[in-house]
Amino acid sequence: MEVWVLRLGHRIFRDQRVTTHCALVARAFGASRIVYSGDRDKGLEETIRKVVEKWGGPFDIVYERQWKRFVKEWKGKVVHLTMYGLPIQEMIEEIRACKEDLLIIVGGKKVPAEVYELSDWNVSVTQQPHSEISALCLFLDRFFEGKELEKEFKGGRLKIIPSKREKIVVKL
Ligand code: SAM
Repeated sequence: MEVWVLRLGHRIFRDQRVTTHCALVARAFGASRIVYSGDRDKGLEETIRKVVEKWGGPFDIVYERQWKRFVKEWKGKVVHLTMYGLPIQEMIEEIRACKEDLLIIVGGKKVPAEVYELSDWNVSVTQQPHSEISALCLFLDRFFEGKELEKEFKGGRLKIIPSKREKIVVKL
């Protein structure tokens, strides 16, 4: 079963940091790919691929110009994270039980109304405004029930050995 993230409405320069962090959170917390739409940003793609090269995967970043077609053709279920949706704590078991590939949509500044229609679940992580990064992080952790914290990343060049006070990094 695969979990992918779709980040909508990327704006080059203005959103580079936020989209980068969405991708880093997606990778670190158990998703295997981020798809982004809006402006194509080769710098963003390069940054994420360098992280994967250094710290391991599997993880990839892919640009999709036609996000609507992409969502319609997705073979699996779709969750849209929005403060207007149903509370995560009431929905997460139903979502986890579906066992199909899962696409998690996070928005940018303005989310097109069709996203609400195309999604199987509109899910809120509190009914307060915060960010796509925090919503994604908390959703993934609840979805994987914390097991993603022990995920092994493969094929990287470096690995951290957890330590009480030192920075211990080993070359693989
Ligand atoms: N008014 C927008 C909306 O539709 O929620 C807020 C845009 S916010 C800057 C960018 C993204 O952060 C949203 O599209 C959503 O994916 C995520 N987000 C922010 N607050 C959230 C919350 N409380 N629950 C779930 N997702 C949230």
